[in-house]
Amino acid sequence: MSRRSLNLDDTLYRYLLDHSLREHPQQVALREATQEHPRAQMQISPEQGQFMALLVKLIGARRCIEVGVFTGYSALSVALALPENGHLLACDISAEFTAVGQPFWARAGVAHKIELRLAPARETLDARLAAGEAGSYDFAFIDADKSGYDDYYERCLRLLRPGGLLAIDNVLWGGAVAQPAHDADTLALQALNDKLHHDERIDLSMLPLGDGLSLARKR
Ligand code: CA
Repeated sequence: MSRRSLNLDDTLYRYLLDHSLREHPQQVALREATQEHPRAQMQISPEQGQFMALLVKLIGARRCIEVGVFTGYSALSVALALPENGHLLACDISAEFTAVGQPFWARAGVAHKIELRLAPARETLDARLAAGEAGSYDFAFIDADKSGYDDYYERCLRLLRPGGLLAIDNVLWGGAVAQPAHDADTLALQALNDKLHHDERIDLSMLPLGDGLSLARKR
């Protein structure tokens, strides 16, 4: 028994996957396609994708945002969880990376739910705010350049409705956030973690899932 989160060894992690994963065949295929990619470690873990899909269903999300698509596994996970009229605004700057995932979105029958915007996410989110979409989204997932996290957080928070949910990836950053840091990425994550801890605009939970996932519910 433990009063703190378990440190999973390989055997227990395998057990967890074997007893919880329910991937769509196209999710399996997209993960396999991404394994060959030189930056494959940027993909979220399948149990994290499944957890986010559950969150999307729990809050009855219909309109979602993703900042940082990479090869599209998390977008596929969220889109599969959305209702038929659901919409995911997927922001990324890489046509090359996102092109990997698009055939899998199509084969899974969810491509019509995903609006991919290839532009700096600040610009895309600012345009949506300028178009009067503040308060109109249910769920947002931030998983992009770490130095941009605070900007993405502030914009997504405005775009979310009260009660909407923000999920922020890599908040434990392989453990580096708990050590003295000098690089820009770790410093940015440390600053955002400090800020969220005391941010009265949200309810907060930091989970040791994957590389650390913070959940922030907009009050
Ligand atoms: Ca990530």
